[in-house]
Amino acid sequence: MSGSRGSRLGAGKPAQPWVSEKLRYVDVWGGELWIDVLKSTLDYGLAPKSWTDYLYLSVGGTLSNGGISGQAFNHGPQISNVYELDVVTGKGDLMTCSEEQNSELFHAVLGGLGQFGIITRARIALEPAPQRVRWIRVLYSNFSAFTHDQEHLISLHEQPASQKFDYVEGFVIVDEGLINNWRSSFFSPRNPVKISSLGADGGVLYCLEITKNYDESTADTIDQEVEALLKKLNFIPASVFTTDLPYVDFLDRVHKAELKLRSKGLWDVPHPWLNLFVPKSKIADFDEGVFKGILGNKTSGPILIYPMNKDKWDERTSVVTPDEDIFYLVALLRSALDTGDETQSLDYLTNQNRLILKFCDEAGINMKQYLPHYPTQEEWMDHFGDKWSLFYRRKMEFDPRRILATGQRIFKPSLHSKTASSSW
Ligand SMILES: Cc1cc2nc3c(=O)[nH]c(=O)nc-3n(C[C@H](O)[C@H](O)[C@H](O)COP(=O)(O)OP(=O)(O)OC[C@H]3O[C@@H](n4cnc5c(N)ncnc54)[C@H](O)[C@@H]3O)c2cc1C
Repeated sequence: MSGSRGSRLGAGKPAQPWVSEKLRYVDVWGGELWIDVLKSTLDYGLAPKSWTDYLYLSVGGTLSNGGISGQAFNHGPQISNVYELDVVTGKGDLMTCSEEQNSELFHAVLGGLGQFGIITRARIALEPAPQRVRWIRVLYSNFSAFTHDQEHLISLHEQPASQKFDYVEGFVIVDEGLINNWRSSFFSPRNPVKISSLGADGGVLYCLEITKNYDESTADTIDQEVEALLKKLNFIPASVFTTDLPYVDFLDRVHKAELKLRSKGLWDVPHPWLNLFVPKSKIADFDEGVFKGILGNKTSGPILIYPMNKDKWDERTSVVTPDEDIFYLVALLRSALDTGDETQSLDYLTNQNRLILKFCDEAGINMKQYLPHYPTQEEWMDHFGDKWSLFYRRKMEFDPRRILATGQRIFKPSLHSKTASSSW
């Protein structure tokens, strides 16, 4: 039976998500927040397969970038889990597109940074929603042991569900202050982990974060399954932190932290974030140069690091990733604070980002920016590399007057466009 909440999506006003239980998808409008997509699909015991860490983001916004979290090694990014889109192109045409229908537009829009059209509806793949999550963090002082284990865990993606984790992420801890940070609320503040007592190599620790989903039917075997997987890993033996919580609470974990930060006035501050896809072959160089080098012993926010399998990304989409089978997301998610401490200032952090990019360039890291920002078209051409001519051709086809997303400065507005940006 197909379920229905409110009217089916159509032209005109945004409608409620519409779930097909039989075909396991949900139709949502482009501005729908992922948290609301989740709430609607749970009514049918279903949920999307691939997520972002934070759910108060719009479907159109994350599909214009990629949409990644710890499920990406297994299911691919959110853009690999979309069946169909309705798009209003820069020419004003409303088009339905998918792998089969108007496929050029479909692939252009996914990861397309809003350059080709506005996503007004998306049809998203669903799976049966797990009920609970076993959430585990373990620590490493040795970077190569850490990445070796992460890569081992993502290599299990073809295994049956009982023999792999459902989510693989990780983060870098360069100062003890970070342990009580919003993303690290796992560690009890009453029992703080002393980095100095763990023999961290170069003052840096690495935390592997993994989860296993389960429900009533698998509750009896979850302990053994987790144990069998942990046995193959080489983390610091006394450093296993485990919690157990409902699936929704796990997915919505960052919101809890957001509310805390908001109450202290620490959410609406500048975030000079830098997100990079670093190829596997260069991740150790990145560790030496950035985590143990440029960052010093202060980070001003979480630094995520986790690998993904490139074959879960569709090359036909607009997103660009490094040219290796495995690449890492390194997300420096820092907040600038006006505390008088220079190392927390926006200028300092922005300059550090510049140093990191310069280091990557000089050390031949061959990374690609995720959620990219560049001031000139030349740099955008460099970012897209071999994909630039395709990206350009698609732009000329779907938004020839270059009226969409001009602020990114990828294309100069056409002289014929009445909406040409005066700031260009
Ligand atoms: C707190 C926070 C946490 C985040 N966590 C993650 C994460 O874990 N994983 C991850 O992958 N990303 C993450 N992001 C980045 C996020 O994916 C992008 O910022 C995305 O653009 C956010 O969507 P939005 O709804 O805020 O978009 P907006 O800020 O509204 O839009 C951003 C851009 O997306 C495009 N766009 C938006 N809507 C549409 C549409 N309907 N059609 C076409 N183009 C559109 C436009 O180019 C627009 O300029 C995070 C961002 C924040 C602020």
